[in-house]
Amino acid sequence: MKEEERPAVEKGMLYLCATPIGNLGDMTERCVEILKNVDVIAAEDTRNSIRLLNHFDIHTPMTAYHEYNRYDKAEALVEKLREGASVACITDAGTPGISDPGEVLVKKCIEAGIPVTSVPGACAAVSALILSGLSTRRFRFEGFLPTEKKERKEALSDLQNETCTLIFYEAPHRLKRTLSDLCEAFGDRRVSVVRELTKKHEEVLRMTLREAVLYYEKEEPRGEFVLVLEGRSREARQEEERAAWERMSVLEHVQYYEAQGLSRKDAMKAAAKDRNVTRREIYSELLPEKD
Ligand code: SAM
Repeated sequence: MKEEERPAVEKGMLYLCATPIGNLGDMTERCVEILKNVDVIAAEDTRNSIRLLNHFDIHTPMTAYHEYNRYDKAEALVEKLREGASVACITDAGTPGISDPGEVLVKKCIEAGIPVTSVPGACAAVSALILSGLSTRRFRFEGFLPTEKKERKEALSDLQNETCTLIFYEAPHRLKRTLSDLCEAFGDRRVSVVRELTKKHEEVLRMTLREAVLYYEKEEPRGEFVLVLEGRSREARQEEERAAWERMSVLEHVQYYEAQGLSRKDAMKAAAKDRNVTRREIYSELLPEKD
C-alpha cells in the first residue's frame, strides 16, 4: 500500500481496539485497518493475538502488555506515544479496559495528556445483558467477584440492596462456588447463565439461582461465563424494611431516628411514614411513656 493510501492513524494516539470474543466475524473493518497501520500493538497475550493478527493479515510489531507488567509497561508505552508513535491496545478478547489491564494504560495516558480513542466492538458483558431477558434499563457491572473469602463476603453484602441488574464475569472452575454464594447472599432470584457467547456452543440458561446451583451439580461448567442477576425488587426491599420496623416497638422506632439527630417531632413523622400509619397513632402509642 502506498503511503498516501494509508488510512489516517494519528501520531501519538492510543487506540483501544475491541477484538472478537469468540467469533472472528465480529472483527470490525476499522479495527483491522487501525491494527495494520499503528506503529505498535500492545497485546495482553501476544501468543494468543498472533493467531488473530495472522488471520487478518496484520503484521504490525507487537509488545506484551499484561496484568503483571501493566504499570511499568504503561509508562514505557506512554513514552512511545509522547515521542509520536501510534499505539493500539488489544486484550485477550473483547473491549480493552473491561476487567483487563487496559484501564491502567488509559489512566496513564490521560495523566500524561495523551489522546485516547476507542474502536468499539464485542464486549461479553453487554451481549450477555441484552440476551438475559432481565431489565437492561439500569445495570451494574461487577466483573469478577473477589476470590478471598472476607473480601468476597463484603462485596456480596454491598450488593444486597442493589435494585439494578447485576453482571458478573466468572471462570468455569469457579462457577459452582459463585452460584452457590450468590444464592446464599441474594436468595432465589432470577439469573441468566450466559455461556460461550458468539461461539458454536453459545447458551443462555434463564432460571433462578437455586435452579442454577442444582443444574451445575450435575453438569460440569465448560467455556466462558457471564452471570446476569436480577436486581432486588423495590417491593421486596420495602417489604423487608416494613418487617424490620414492625419488629421494633413504636418507641424504639422513634428513638432510632432520634439517635440519628432528628427532633422528637420529626422522628415521629418518619416512624409514621415507615409504618404507614398517621402521626396521631404514633403519638398515642407513646402516651404511656409521657405519663
Ligand atoms: N474485556 C473483555 C470483554 O470486553 O468482555 C473481558 C475480559 S475478562 C478477562 C474475561 C471474561 O469475560 C471471561 O472470564 C468471561 O467471564 C467473559 N467472557 C469473555 N468472552 C466470553 C464469551 N465468549 N462468552 C461468555 N463470557 C465471556
